[in-house]
Amino acid sequence: MVIIRVALSIPKRQLFDYLYEGPALAPGVRVAVSFGPRKLIGVVWETSDKSEWDVSKLKSIEAVLDDEPIFNPTLLKLCGWLAQYYKHPIGDVVQTAMPVALRKGESSQAKPIEYWTLSNVGQSTDLSSLSRAPKQRALLTLLQEKDLLKSKAKSDFGAAAVKGLTEKELITSIEKRPSKESTWQQDLLIQDKPIANVEQAIAISCIEAKLNQYSCFLLDGITGSGKTEVYLQAIEQVLNQGKQVLILVPEIGLTPQTVHRFKYRFGIDVGILHSGLNNNERLQVWQQSASGQLGIIIGTRSAIFTPMLKPGLLIVDEEHDASYKQQDGLRYHARDLAVMRAHEENIPLVLGSATPALETLNNALNGKYQHLKLHERAGNASLATQHVFDIRQQQLKFGVAQGMLDRMSQHLQQGSQVMLFINRRGYAPALMCHQCGFVEHCKRCDNPYTVHKQLFKLQCHHCGSAKTIPKNCQQCQSNELTSMGVGTEQLEQGLASHFPQYSSIRIDSDSARGKNKLDKMLSSINNNEHQILIGTQILSKGHHFPNVTLVLILDLDGALFSADYRAAEHLAQLITQLAGRAGRAEKPGEMWLQTHDPGHPLLQDLINNGYAHFAQYALLERQHANLPPYSFQALFKAQALSARDAFDFLQQIGQLFSTADNVYCLGPIPALMEKRQGQYRMQLLLQSPQRSALQKAIGQQINKIETLNLANKVRWSLDIDPQDFS
Ligand code: ADP
Ligand code: ZN
Ligand code: ZN
Repeated sequence: MVIIRVALSIPKRQLFDYLYEGPALAPGVRVAVSFGPRKLIGVVWETSDKSEWDVSKLKSIEAVLDDEPIFNPTLLKLCGWLAQYYKHPIGDVVQTAMPVALRKGESSQAKPIEYWTLSNVGQSTDLSSLSRAPKQRALLTLLQEKDLLKSKAKSDFGAAAVKGLTEKELITSIEKRPSKESTWQQDLLIQDKPIANVEQAIAISCIEAKLNQYSCFLLDGITGSGKTEVYLQAIEQVLNQGKQVLILVPEIGLTPQTVHRFKYRFGIDVGILHSGLNNNERLQVWQQSASGQLGIIIGTRSAIFTPMLKPGLLIVDEEHDASYKQQDGLRYHARDLAVMRAHEENIPLVLGSATPALETLNNALNGKYQHLKLHERAGNASLATQHVFDIRQQQLKFGVAQGMLDRMSQHLQQGSQVMLFINRRGYAPALMCHQCGFVEHCKRCDNPYTVHKQLFKLQCHHCGSAKTIPKNCQQCQSNELTSMGVGTEQLEQGLASHFPQYSSIRIDSDSARGKNKLDKMLSSINNNEHQILIGTQILSKGHHFPNVTLVLILDLDGALFSADYRAAEHLAQLITQLAGRAGRAEKPGEMWLQTHDPGHPLLQDLINNGYAHFAQYALLERQHANLPPYSFQALFKAQALSARDAFDFLQQIGQLFSTADNVYCLGPIPALMEKRQGQYRMQLLLQSPQRSALQKAIGQQINKIETLNLANKVRWSLDIDPQDFS
């Protein structure tokens, strides 16, 4: 009889002891246990011969679910690090790291895969009989050469071709477990590639020099400078060694176009992990990667937990993107975890961006990361010129100045596409009474409702609550209700009547909702079905729009006055990324930014000197203000129905830290958004010049915080290295 210490998803910072008799259990194996009246699935963390509890009262493990651990030692170690660094319960960390299907107790054995093979008839069929069905013919040709084809036949040749051949009884599908020998390596076939330019070649050889050991690179290249090409050529070396590559991309960046580039270059299956997959699909990619059957795995944030049999390289594309930081539960940063993982796996990590996060840039400047730069656009493309447009005292039509409408007209007449960015979706950000000035507010969030005309609704963008657009003012009964400000919907309507001869398309989280909708929109843009593209943040995320020559940014002035010290950095990244959408192909492009503050030093610096210059200056400012990356922060957040409770709770926490060495306490203060969903929100910020001092202080106090009597009355959380102060 031994004691097994199990990580269970219980909000407690501890392991749970169970009795066990039988063959030794390796850490990382799942077990079923009962916890009070509940049955839970946990993960074996360690085995011990003693317990701090009364052994006679311990329960036994009820079932062992795996023959082999679902986490390898590296991933277990990373889970341990996450729990310790983010001060998060280990059981919850382990749950976060595993696919949902495994949390629910599904088998961790790899499932059979669908293969296509020739029928007897198919083996002797003359290909010319399929001359009128080119896709079917191509698929049959391949099968006659290759015998077995994995399920990717459907995505490569289309479901219709597969169906056609099946109906003609030329091919059949069989289910088969992939054998260990049938890895991706036999499919590897490298397509033609461009010759790397000098800077790319230097970057590629720097990465190649460090394969098979830990090293972190910042690939800092302007938009369109060929960063992806650098990844591809580095990946080629790794695949040639028979090793696997894991690539992280931002939440909305994972489109079929992205995946296609990797698939096409190497001819192998690419494992894809994104939020649109069902639990089974996700598990399958996990298993295939763990057993070494995938050469390339691409995924969003949580893909960083994907196990690999033979890891060779990690890549984090658009490393500055906010979606890499999880904003609830285990608030980890996938980029930081990637650094830890590359270190543990002893493999290189490439962080790529045209607008590196200041944290990352600082690590490159101080020599922790190797700084690889690409200054020029690849091929013949040139960078868009950038300008500000003064809109003081200008009449705006649906948010656009006349001068900008004229410029749009010029570009459209030349057959180019024009892109407009506006950071508010809906028709208008507020509904106001013309008689008395009353503004319709969401009472739960103390925030104006956004007007959505198409839905005929007022909607709160903070809590999602909605109501029908009223006919009369609540306060004075007047029927003169007017919408204030401009959102995507209104802009789209206005442009449609101003430029009736051109087609426009709106891309925001309302219109892009639904499966494959964004992909369809992106391809219709690339097929030139639309000339005017209107959208929100989604537009800035790395998509290629080769025919766009004018990017117009309507209103970002709000960010110039934000209370969040990261606002300037995010604004500069957004503007630079948006400008990067223009002039990608041979057509030169321009970007115009409408502003009431054309002389603002940030805008002037960014537009005249570029992001790199801005970033160096911003780092200096952070240094003078003792802000990250020159200090380290942790944010306690509390919310409650009573502002008093939230405040008092945080104040008690503050007192716990009053004597901590080298740790400074700021607050409690109201969150940037003080009220949300009827709850009052407060924050307490801890800051220290040393990461270790902050870690130590929190480590000493965290258990005490849980026993504070208000801890049960407020909802609270701890965010280490917080990114978001809203
Ligand atoms: P980034 O990832 O930096 O935005 P991409 O890798 O997407 O840039 O490259 C932009 C465009 O330039 C792509 O169409 C790509 O095929 C092309 N390209 C990249 N490197 C080269 C090169 N060395 N020669 C010619 N074209 C290139
Ligand atoms: Zn009124
Ligand atoms: Zn609300």
